[in-house]
Amino acid sequence: MHSYDFRCKACRRRFTLTFKTYADYDAAQPACPHCGSSELSRLIGRVAIKAPSRDYSSMSSDEMLSVFESGDSRAVGEMFQQVGAESPEMGAEYQEATQRLLRGDSLDKVERDLGGALGVDSGSDAGFDA
Ligand SMILES: [Zn+2]
Repeated sequence: MHSYDFRCKACRRRFTLTFKTYADYDAAQPACPHCGSSELSRLIGRVAIKAPSRDYSSMSSDEMLSVFESGDSRAVGEMFQQVGAESPEMGAEYQEATQRLLRGDSLDKVERDLGGALGVDSGSDAGFDA
Protein backbone atom coordinates (compact mmCIF):
# COMPACT_ATOMS: atom_id res chain seq x y z
CA MET A 1 0.00 0.00 0.00
CA HIS A 2 1.23 3.47 -0.81
CA SER A 3 -0.20 6.58 0.81
CA TYR A 4 -0.01 10.03 -0.65
CA ASP A 5 -0.93 13.31 0.99
CA PHE A 6 -2.64 15.93 -1.11
CA ARG A 7 -3.95 19.40 -0.63
CA CYS A 8 -6.96 20.51 -2.64
CA LYS A 9 -6.34 23.78 -4.45
CA ALA A 10 -10.06 24.51 -4.58
CA CYS A 11 -11.13 24.01 -0.93
CA ARG A 12 -7.63 23.97 0.67
CA ARG A 13 -8.35 20.79 2.60
CA ARG A 14 -5.76 18.16 3.14
CA PHE A 15 -6.33 14.44 2.73
CA THR A 16 -4.57 11.17 2.12
CA LEU A 17 -5.20 8.72 -0.68
CA THR A 18 -3.97 5.15 -0.57
CA PHE A 19 -3.16 3.01 -3.55
CA LYS A 20 -2.31 -0.66 -3.65
CA THR A 21 0.50 -0.28 -6.13
CA TYR A 22 2.46 2.46 -7.85
CA ALA A 23 0.77 1.45 -11.07
CA ASP A 24 -2.63 2.16 -9.48
CA TYR A 25 -1.37 5.57 -8.44
CA ASP A 26 -0.10 6.31 -11.94
CA ALA A 27 -3.40 5.29 -13.46
CA ALA A 28 -5.53 7.11 -10.91
CA GLN A 29 -6.97 10.55 -11.41
CA PRO A 30 -7.14 11.63 -7.81
CA ALA A 31 -9.94 13.97 -6.82
CA CYS A 32 -10.70 15.82 -3.60
CA PRO A 33 -13.04 13.75 -1.41
CA HIS A 34 -14.55 16.97 -0.03
CA CYS A 35 -15.41 18.96 -3.13
CA GLY A 36 -14.52 16.66 -6.02
CA SER A 37 -11.93 18.99 -7.53
CA SER A 38 -9.02 17.40 -9.36
CA GLU A 39 -6.83 20.47 -8.80
CA LEU A 40 -4.56 18.94 -6.20
CA SER A 41 -1.07 19.49 -4.93
CA ARG A 42 0.82 16.48 -3.84
CA LEU A 43 2.37 16.96 -0.40
CA ILE A 44 5.67 15.34 0.30
CA GLY A 45 5.51 14.40 3.91
CA ARG A 46 6.25 11.78 6.45
CA VAL A 47 3.75 9.42 4.91
CA ALA A 48 5.41 9.48 1.52
CA ILE A 49 8.99 9.14 2.67
CA LYS A 50 8.75 6.85 5.64
CA ALA A 51 11.41 4.23 6.17
CA PRO A 52 11.20 1.14 4.00
CA SER A 53 8.48 -0.97 5.53
CA ARG A 54 9.26 -4.26 7.10
CA ASP A 55 7.75 -7.43 5.80
CA TYR A 56 5.55 -8.20 8.78
CA SER A 57 3.88 -11.16 7.15
CA SER A 58 7.06 -13.18 7.44
CA MET A 59 7.61 -12.30 11.10
CA SER A 60 7.42 -14.82 13.88
CA SER A 61 4.91 -14.32 16.71
CA ASP A 62 7.75 -13.22 18.96
CA GLU A 63 8.84 -10.54 16.50
CA MET A 64 5.25 -9.37 16.15
CA LEU A 65 4.96 -9.18 19.92
CA SER A 66 8.05 -6.99 20.06
CA VAL A 67 6.41 -4.61 17.58
CA PHE A 68 3.44 -4.41 19.98
CA GLU A 69 5.74 -3.80 22.88
CA SER A 70 7.53 -0.99 21.06
CA GLY A 71 4.28 0.98 21.47
CA ASP A 72 4.72 2.45 17.97
CA SER A 73 1.10 2.51 16.88
CA ARG A 74 1.88 3.21 13.24
CA ALA A 75 4.22 0.26 13.06
CA VAL A 76 1.58 -1.91 14.69
CA GLY A 77 -1.03 -0.56 12.29
CA GLU A 78 1.20 -1.36 9.37
CA MET A 79 1.71 -4.84 10.70
CA PHE A 80 -2.04 -5.29 11.16
CA GLN A 81 -2.62 -4.09 7.64
CA GLN A 82 -0.21 -6.58 6.14
CA VAL A 83 -1.43 -9.47 8.23
CA GLY A 84 -5.08 -8.49 7.80
CA ALA A 85 -4.75 -8.21 4.03
CA GLU A 86 -4.13 -11.92 3.98
CA SER A 87 -6.78 -12.71 6.55
CA PRO A 88 -10.12 -11.14 5.59
CA GLU A 89 -11.78 -13.22 8.31
CA MET A 90 -10.23 -10.94 10.94
CA GLY A 91 -13.38 -8.84 10.81
CA ALA A 92 -14.53 -5.25 11.09
CA GLU A 93 -13.11 -4.49 14.53
CA TYR A 94 -9.70 -5.57 13.37
CA GLN A 95 -9.98 -3.37 10.28
CA GLU A 96 -11.10 -0.44 12.41
CA ALA A 97 -8.20 -0.94 14.79
CA THR A 98 -5.83 -1.05 11.82
CA GLN A 99 -7.10 2.22 10.40
CA ARG A 100 -6.95 3.94 13.78
CA LEU A 101 -3.40 2.78 14.42
CA LEU A 102 -2.29 3.95 10.99
CA ARG A 103 -3.77 7.36 11.81
CA GLY A 104 -1.55 7.43 14.89
CA ASP A 105 -4.09 6.66 17.64
CA SER A 106 -2.26 5.27 20.63
CA LEU A 107 -2.11 1.54 20.97
CA ASP A 108 -3.49 1.73 24.52
CA LYS A 109 -6.48 3.75 23.43
CA VAL A 110 -7.37 1.52 20.50
CA GLU A 111 -6.96 -1.53 22.69
CA ARG A 112 -9.20 -0.08 25.37
CA ASP A 113 -11.91 0.98 22.95
CA LEU A 114 -11.99 -2.27 21.07
CA GLY A 115 -11.66 -4.57 24.06
CA GLY A 116 -10.04 -7.89 23.33
CA ALA A 117 -10.23 -7.55 19.57
CA LEU A 118 -6.49 -7.19 19.30
CA GLY A 119 -5.68 -10.24 21.37
CA VAL A 120 -2.60 -8.53 22.77
CA ASP A 121 -3.09 -9.68 26.33
CA SER A 122 -3.88 -13.29 25.64
CA GLY A 123 -0.44 -14.61 26.42
CA SER A 124 1.34 -16.66 23.83
CA ASP A 125 -1.72 -16.79 21.59
CA ALA A 126 -1.35 -13.40 19.97
CA GLY A 127 -3.83 -14.27 17.24
CA PHE A 128 -1.21 -14.32 14.51
CA ASP A 129 -0.55 -17.79 13.32
CA ALA A 130 1.48 -16.65 10.37
ZN1 LIG B 1 -11.58 20.21 -2.37
